[in-house]
This record gives sequence, C-alpha cells and structure tokens, in this order.
Amino acid sequence: KSETVYEVDQMLTHVMFALDKARETHQNNVWFFDSKLHEKELMNNYVDSHMYQALEDKEFRLFLQPQIDLATGKVCGAEALVRWIKKDGKIIYPDQFIPLFEENGFCKFLDIYIVDRVFSFIRGWINRGYEPVPVSVNQSKTVIFEHNFTRKLYTIVISWGISPELITLEILEGMALKNPNDLNRKISMLKEKGFRIAMDDFGSGYSSLNTLGQIQIDELKLDRGFLRDVAADKNKKSWIIMEQITEMAKKLHIKTVVEGVETGENDRMIRELGCDCGQGYYYGKPVSAEEFTEKYIIGGHELN
Ligand code: C2E
Ligand code: MG
Ligand code: MG
Repeated sequence: KSETVYEVDQMLTHVMFALDKARETHQNNVWFFDSKLHEKELMNNYVDSHMYQALEDKEFRLFLQPQIDLATGKVCGAEALVRWIKKDGKIIYPDQFIPLFEENGFCKFLDIYIVDRVFSFIRGWINRGYEPVPVSVNQSKTVIFEHNFTRKLYTIVISWGISPELITLEILEGMALKNPNDLNRKISMLKEKGFRIAMDDFGSGYSSLNTLGQIQIDELKLDRGFLRDVAADKNKKSWIIMEQITEMAKKLHIKTVVEGVETGENDRMIRELGCDCGQGYYYGKPVSAEEFTEKYIIGGHELN
C-alpha cells in the first residue's frame, strides 16, 4: 500500500468518526476530527467493554492514601482510591472510568467490591495484631440511593466481623442538592448501623453552608481548591472563609480533613486554621494497600 493511500484511509476513518459524533447530537452542524476526542472515545469503549471481565480478573486494585492527625503527626486514617491495572501493567485512573460507571450503573458493583477489599485488609491488620486505622471509601452519586444499599453494606461488615465505625462513606455535596430529605434518610439508616459519613470535595461546586446544618455528616473534606485560593488570594478573603468553615464545623462537632496538601506551607496553613487532619502528596501519595500496610500499619502509624 502506498503512503498516500494509507493517509487517505486514515483520513476517511477520521471523517467517519467525526460524522458519528455529529449524528449523536443535533446541536452542531459542523464537526471536525479531534484526535483528543477520538482517544477519549477509544478509552470509553475499552472501559465499557472490559469492566465485567476486569472485575472478575481482579484488575481493580485498592490503593490507600494516608490521612494525618495534625495534632499528633501520626497516620489517623486512609482514603481508598481505586486503580484499574491492566494485564500489560498500564494504569487507568478513576477519573477515566468512574463517571462512565455512574452512567452505566457498574459503580454499584465496584463500590461494594472496594468496601469488601478494604475490610479484607482491615481484617488482615487485626489478625496480625496491628492497630487498624479507619478507611474512607468514595461512594458514587447514585449508589447510596440503590434499594437495599445499607443492608448490602452491613452484610459485608458482618461477614468480616469488623466494626462499621472503621468505615467512613464519602458522599458528594451534589447529592444533597436535589433532595436533602432523601439523602438524610439514607444517612440516618447508615449511621444507625454505625457507619461514619464524610462530605467529599466540599467547596468545589455549588457549596452551601446550609449543607453543614442540613445533612448529618461526621466529617467534612475541604477541597484542595481552597488551598489554591488561599495561596493565590492576597487580601485574605479566602483565608477568612476557610477559617469560618473550620470554626463552624468545630462547633457542629464535624471533623475537618483538608485535601491536596502538597507543601510545607500548605501544612503550616491548615494547622494555623485549626483543621483536624490533612491528606495530600506532602504526607504521602496513594500507594497499593500492600505497600500501605508495610509502610504505615506495621510501621506503627508513623509517617516517615
Ligand atoms: P477524591 O475522592 O476527591 O480523591 C482525591 C483525589 O486527589 C485522588 O485522585 C488523589 O490521588 C488526589 N490527590 C491526593 N493528594 C493530592 C495532592 O496533594 N495533590 C493533588 N493534586 N491531588 C491529590 P484519584 O485517585 O485520581 O481519584 C479521583 C476521584 O475518583 C476521587 O476524588 C473520587 O471522587 C473518585 N474515586 C476514586 N476511587 C473511587 C472508588 O473506589 N469509588 C468511587 N465511586 N469513586 C472513586
Ligand atoms: Mg474522596
Ligand atoms: Mg475529594
């Protein structure tokens, strides 16, 4: 095949792809081939057609990132973050598949699976005589509203024989927007069983201070955007806002965890603000649950 014929072939593929995109929507009459978009489409197709097999083949791996108690400097918890590690060793990050799983419903399998993996590690720590740390698990937008969700979670707790207090469920503020009463009812059921509830990414979207009063959370995770704003803001407005949120959370007996702590300066700032815990690359990146066990659990919750 000559070079030009090959090029024509490829161009045709691109045109067909752009056409396909154009047919999906009626808003745009002109479509251009975009290699980034094409790549994304390929990834989406991969995710969609391999997710069940990947779950069966244990390609979804549990990673844990330490959370630090600012008063003691010790590891006081961890956040569970999933990584999809393909057979060829390539890693797919959650931002590339969680939004899809929320759409296609697969997140109800994945979120439960991750909770189960977390418990299996906590069980291992306890069996080997180490002090466990509580672990936070992200819950997709729709999963918490699934029928029987609380019961399913509780079944896993029972099967591992571990206190539900060692699990914190991270939910998103957006879930409270549509129907705060529905969400509160779900939260009450979960709290009754002993699970803790954290609100993730607070301050990243349509945050409202009402949420703090309305939704019965145990923990507030301040989005890393706050740290960015405070660092960039010369007239201290963002600082005052963050200080007030921290203060308010304290009065409401809600624990504060700041996300995205990347520098010593960030660390100093959140201590000064009076936050309870920090999480971020400055203390430790997410590592495989096996490595986390070696580094922080066997190491007696020391950071080093
Ligand atoms: P998230 O829950 O807000 O998780 C924090 C994200 O920030 C993680 O990205 C983490 O690796 C990253 N991060 C931690 N420290 C730093 C830092 O100092 N600087 C910066 N720039 N980033 C930091 P990751 O692991 O890619 O996860 C992205 C999002 O995917 C999570 O955001 C969460 O919403 C979702 N996710 C992850 N695992 C799961 C899961 O098992 N189930 C569900 N439903 N969602 C998950
Ligand atoms: Mg989270
Ligand atoms: Mg977050």
